[in-house]
Amino acid sequence: MSMNVYEYQCHLGGLGYYQLRRKDGTLAIDGIPGPSTQAAIRKFQVEHQKRPDGSLLDPDGYWGPATEAALRQVIGNNEPPQVTTPGVWVSREDFRCKCGGRYCNGFPAEPHQKTIDLLNAFGEHFGKKPVCHSGLRCETHNANTPGASPNSRHKNGSAFDFHIDGVSPEELRDYGETLMPDWGGLGIYPWGIHIDDRQVKGRWDLR
Ligand SMILES: [Zn+2]
Ligand SMILES: [Zn+2]
Repeated sequence: MSMNVYEYQCHLGGLGYYQLRRKDGTLAIDGIPGPSTQAAIRKFQVEHQKRPDGSLLDPDGYWGPATEAALRQVIGNNEPPQVTTPGVWVSREDFRCKCGGRYCNGFPAEPHQKTIDLLNAFGEHFGKKPVCHSGLRCETHNANTPGASPNSRHKNGSAFDFHIDGVSPEELRDYGETLMPDWGGLGIYPWGIHIDDRQVKGRWDLR
């Protein structure tokens, strides 16, 4: 099975070839094979040009079977890595507005990095993906959502409602408290929790 972009970014990052960083200094494992990733692949290809069978890798900056085989040679195993790097559990796409394209293109705002980071911490902690109930909401979808505030933080990309399979809402809330002891929005519902990255602490219980 071939590696996905997250996986080879992880490996190339670990080996020092891929160095794109976010503002907070963490490696930008984002699953996007952009210019920095291509440059990292090319550098790796140049340095590992000679394959075990004597043929040469073409340093084209694109991920292919020969490049992957060379990488597996270097990392010394044949299994894809366990990918648990921030950016993997929840991504921009998970926030897509659930109006289904009727009232917006899915992204009436950009998801907040801080909220994505929180969600990835949940994924990392419980070892499973946070499953979205509601991420971004356009004006119309928000107005059509029962109980939604007109000023909902779901409209600006800072809020996310989710559950994690096999994890109770109470466990999610308790872990959320450790991440946001004196800030952030945290609401508990029968199906899971709402979180947002507000500065002044907000809590509610609608079980
Ligand atoms: Zn929408
Ligand atoms: Zn919510």
